[in-house]
Amino acid sequence: MRPDKRGTHSFKADMHHGEGPRRNILPNSGLKADLHTHTTASDGSMSPSKVVEWGAKAKLDVLAITDHDTVSGLSEGVKRANELGVKFVPGIELSTFAICEIHILGYNVPYEDKDFLAALEDVQGMRIERNIHIGEKLKQNGINLDIDFSARGLGRMNMARAMVSAHYARDVQEAFDKWLGTSGKAYCEAKRLSPIEAVKLIKQYGGFASIAHPKKYLLDGRLDMLVEGLKRFGLDGLEVNYPSHSDKDRAELVSLARKYRLLETGGSDFHGDEDKDFIFTLSESTRRALHI
Ligand SMILES: [Zn+2]
Repeated sequence: MRPDKRGTHSFKADMHHGEGPRRNILPNSGLKADLHTHTTASDGSMSPSKVVEWGAKAKLDVLAITDHDTVSGLSEGVKRANELGVKFVPGIELSTFAICEIHILGYNVPYEDKDFLAALEDVQGMRIERNIHIGEKLKQNGINLDIDFSARGLGRMNMARAMVSAHYARDVQEAFDKWLGTSGKAYCEAKRLSPIEAVKLIKQYGGFASIAHPKKYLLDGRLDMLVEGLKRFGLDGLEVNYPSHSDKDRAELVSLARKYRLLETGGSDFHGDEDKDFIFTLSESTRRALHI
């Protein structure tokens, strides 16, 4: 029996020999981390090597590359990280859909395992189909972009940048608002994994699953439902630390993480165009769970 009624707090790593949760025995790991970045393997503008160099320059101890639905940038990333002495976490950000678009981050995914790669091929296929549809819609509206809509790893961010350079939009924001965003004229729904399928896929291959930028799904208490549902399938973490999160957001997310015994993750969602100047300190529990 627990000595008190705290109950809500108990990160996995805080448990020890059945004596119940101990608070504060695991302080911060002291490691500066960014667990959410994109490269040219998906819709980032910098190569995996360059992103690792950016991380080293920003004095990060730990960096994860989490491209959309692909692990094709990870071998290059890990190589450069080894050269520069940055601890590297191979990751992925899976796009899923349930009522709205929900992104699931996977860490320590087996990026050279051929069965895992085959599973990702299927996911990529859904994305390519969607991109081709968007290309067709843009064309119907007189927008001809010099990009291959069937290219692997292509994302809406690439299309937005192409629209800006061809002067179809003033900036990326306008490209999304008018054309590529959910209420844009060329928007297309893709066939997607469900969040449950994404978590199952990551867990099946021994990875660590976390919900990306959860604030985006905070509406109407839906996040609580989502977390509760995914926890049953092995969800490990919640991206509590994210550049746009206010202190209030963080506090809400921390209590949600505690309620469902999830570990806190965090990252900048760097795409190479911006310098968000965002670094967070990894908790010791998360560090252990990620085997860093
Ligand atoms: Zn992202």
